[in-house]
Amino acid sequence: MVQFDDTYDDEKLSELRRAEEEHLMRELAASYGYQYIYLPGITINPSALTVIDEKVAREAEAVAFERHNKQLNIALHNPNNPAVQALLEQLKKDNWKLTIMICSKASLEHAWLRYQDQRSTIAVTRGVLDIDPTSIANLVKSLRGLEDVTARIEDIRTLNSARRVSETLEAMFAGAISLHASDIHIEPEETGIRMRFRLDGVLHDVIDMQRVIYERLLSRLKLLAGMRLNAHDEAQDGRFTFTIGEQTVEVRASVIPGAAGESMVMRLLDPTVASFSFENLGLNPILRETIEEELKRPNGLIITTGPTGSGKTTALYAFLRKVHTPDVKIITIEDPVEYKLEDIVQTQVGDEYTFASGLRAILRQDPDVIMVGEIRDREVAETALQAAKTGHLVFSTLHTNSAVGAFPRLIDLGADYRSFGSAVNIVLGQRLVRVLCNHCKEAYEASPEEVALIKDTIKDHPHPPQLSDPLILHKPVGCPHCNQTGFMGRQGLFEAVRMDAAVEEAILRDPREHIIAEAAAPQGIPNMTHDGVEKVLAGTTSLPELIRVVDLENRRQHAATPEAGEDDFADHIV
Ligand SMILES: [Zn+2]
Repeated sequence: MVQFDDTYDDEKLSELRRAEEEHLMRELAASYGYQYIYLPGITINPSALTVIDEKVAREAEAVAFERHNKQLNIALHNPNNPAVQALLEQLKKDNWKLTIMICSKASLEHAWLRYQDQRSTIAVTRGVLDIDPTSIANLVKSLRGLEDVTARIEDIRTLNSARRVSETLEAMFAGAISLHASDIHIEPEETGIRMRFRLDGVLHDVIDMQRVIYERLLSRLKLLAGMRLNAHDEAQDGRFTFTIGEQTVEVRASVIPGAAGESMVMRLLDPTVASFSFENLGLNPILRETIEEELKRPNGLIITTGPTGSGKTTALYAFLRKVHTPDVKIITIEDPVEYKLEDIVQTQVGDEYTFASGLRAILRQDPDVIMVGEIRDREVAETALQAAKTGHLVFSTLHTNSAVGAFPRLIDLGADYRSFGSAVNIVLGQRLVRVLCNHCKEAYEASPEEVALIKDTIKDHPHPPQLSDPLILHKPVGCPHCNQTGFMGRQGLFEAVRMDAAVEEAILRDPREHIIAEAAAPQGIPNMTHDGVEKVLAGTTSLPELIRVVDLENRRQHAATPEAGEDDFADHIV
């Protein structure tokens, strides 16, 4: 007797129905002459969503999901619905330029859920959080340095104000924005609560907070970020946005439990990253030319490597902007989408939409260029390599310490190394160094030890730079322009390995890092240590800063004994 598992069949059946509905919508869209869209997997832009009231949206069976200035992308289910016709008329009257797409009812239900987040955010900002955008805007203008922020929060501490917690929050956010901090850290310790800002990659103390303020501050931030308030012993993630004038600041927050209380880190997403241009990356001339050539090729895999916070994504975004023209279709899959790129379809991984399944879905959308946030497993590696071989230009990142390290890493993940030669175009390695403040940096004569270290480092430079005698270097001083840190902004140090016959042969023969590096040497591309020394000689950064980021001593020893401690590098990199 044949037995059926009913639950299994029900699941299959509803999955089939969902697939059928999507299929039907795709055909309907074509017959109406509109583009079809599948909304799960697409980031719904909150400022687009709220253009249409939830009640109106539900009646019209429509949703606004993407917006740029007065350009609005709307997905709708039934163009013949009278309510939607009225809605579209009204939007046109309000000067919206509309792009209309067709989607399934299930897509709409998914997107409408986002109204809930919106409701809670508004309730929180207006009611519980009580942050005043005008006072933040005024504070941003008045807080000029770290001391100003510290002094302002000190002041609040001594004020007998009912708004003490709100004012501390305002001063914290205003200070972070004014100083271009990338992260705010709140760390409880036995002796006190530290608040620190990360400026140009380095943490700076702001203030020691009172525990009573910390506890109330943390509760409000958790509420704002949509975290559970009564959970104190688990890690939680969340995000929220706040607005200052024209600028919307997106914040990703996370808490972890600790002995003295929960630590919170908030990353402020800098919208200027998305507009970072290829020309501003600080590539040396050889590498700039090399990458420009690679970006002109119609297919192949381009990988950037480096530890977390080394600017891999910024570089990829700059490459995407460089290849972006109206006749090129670009789709990204990211975890999460941090920055919105104009006119590029960006999707975000979720429970069912993984890098692997997402990448397969993207390939069915007939893109020219694909960006995959990170290659983390065999499936993604194989799919990316396959896509690169079948006419797509594919960008991705790998978590390795050097450009050559990408090949053994891909092999570790289980990718077929025989396909590297035809699929991979170029691998880049990068780090970020702080740039000396132009207003206060000071020239000095290098010590004999510094001269020796530099000479030793450029010994194997493919085109060694001339050293002046005496050798003049620069060091940080500190002034009001740079918050007394001596540095302003960061720049990348780069290296690269192109795929050529020699590199391919090395990968097939013995894919260890030093063997591949040897095979790539005739390409004449400086490595990131060489690049760093050149930036020190040019006065862009200081020698101690270079050593902080790329351990010169260790790197040389490493080159001498390549088998030992391949992974030690990451420990030396901040
Ligand atoms: Zn300065």
